[in-house]
Amino acid sequence: MDHRPDAEVVEICRDLIRIDTTNFGPQPGPGEREAAEHVAGLLDEVGISSEIFEAGPKRASLIADWAPEGVDTSATPLLIHGHLDVVPANADDWTHHPFAGEIADGCVWGRGAVDMKDFDAMVLSVIRARARAGVAPRRPVKLVFTADEEAGSHYGAHWLVDHHRDQLDGCTEAIGEVGGFSLTVRDDLRLYLIQTAEKGIAWLRLIADGTAGHGSMRNDDNAVTELAAAVARIGAYDWPHKITEAQRAFLDAVSEALEVELDPDRAQETLAKLGSISRMIGATMSNTTNPTMLTAGYKHNVIPGRAEAAIDGRFVPGGREEFLATIKELVGDKITIEMDTLQPSVETEFSGALVEAMQRSLAAEDPGARAVPYLMSGGTDAKAWDRIGIRCFGFAPLRLPADLDFVGMFHGVDERVPTDALEFGARVLDRFLATA
Ligand SMILES: [Zn+2]
Repeated sequence: MDHRPDAEVVEICRDLIRIDTTNFGPQPGPGEREAAEHVAGLLDEVGISSEIFEAGPKRASLIADWAPEGVDTSATPLLIHGHLDVVPANADDWTHHPFAGEIADGCVWGRGAVDMKDFDAMVLSVIRARARAGVAPRRPVKLVFTADEEAGSHYGAHWLVDHHRDQLDGCTEAIGEVGGFSLTVRDDLRLYLIQTAEKGIAWLRLIADGTAGHGSMRNDDNAVTELAAAVARIGAYDWPHKITEAQRAFLDAVSEALEVELDPDRAQETLAKLGSISRMIGATMSNTTNPTMLTAGYKHNVIPGRAEAAIDGRFVPGGREEFLATIKELVGDKITIEMDTLQPSVETEFSGALVEAMQRSLAAEDPGARAVPYLMSGGTDAKAWDRIGIRCFGFAPLRLPADLDFVGMFHGVDERVPTDALEFGARVLDRFLATA
């Protein structure tokens, strides 16, 4: 039996991709339960028992405690979490079928290859190798594989926190997505972006109520006109830059690495040199608001009494109140704002023994590695763990080729991950578990 930590990572990743765990929202998808059972089987084979919790029919998450002989039982368990669900994929758009787990051009292709069956596979490969070889991690590990991350974690992480909080007792630190991937600056220097913060989410519904009537008449109280103007103001609003602590540390590291001064107001130009990542970093320099849905009317010559719009709003850590106040000002008093989703931002410091263990384990596998914190524009299960005071880090290590559009892989067509990056990640995680 092969006891190398990276021995099984590629095969496990392919197998997980082949289980279609598409998340269509509240209704059960095809494969979350099957994926959780598959993971339970992989753990069971090496003597690790687990428990599956269902938040709804087939909305399955799995929890396992791994504290083999040799762990420091006085240490708090490290939470290692990954979601098993994926966003939908339309097979016609793909070069290789999104649920076939094919290998081509040195990559594993498929939905979930980077978000985030890659990390799930790394964790399982490392833990199975260690369990077989009888090599304990430094501290106990709490493994959590969740459902429903891609639709807000209501049937996954948030549900676990609400209904099985005792399962997470004692956990103070966690690793999961989205971070740990490399950004090539020079041949001998790669920045590994560790997620220490994520933006808050405000999905707003704007409702304009007016006077219904015939489309041929004058109408100064037209709900569509009122709503359209408000949507246009929000869509066109240029949110000022707001640089958080994690962002500042990231920009400092980039400017040092590129040997250029980084003026936050002109950072976008400099960041463009880093390739596709600049899109994501650009989105974290300020709040953002994107109108995404419009609903009104049913007939060409009837003025409807109501018009509605959906806005996807994201605010930087610490910026919620100001964000909401600005929205209110932009839409005016004739529009009602309803909050479909309001999830707080998350932020932790880039310091401490856990961060040092990340840096050490990365450097041991890549001498050109330099870990830097960053603020992520999206939301993850970290929002749920943060509710119970767990410090969350995005640390799913991948050494990537300089020209891969990694950010474009998330929820994108032809999502894929290099097999050697998967193996690299497994080796880094193995080192990490020894000292973290
Ligand atoms: Zn994800």
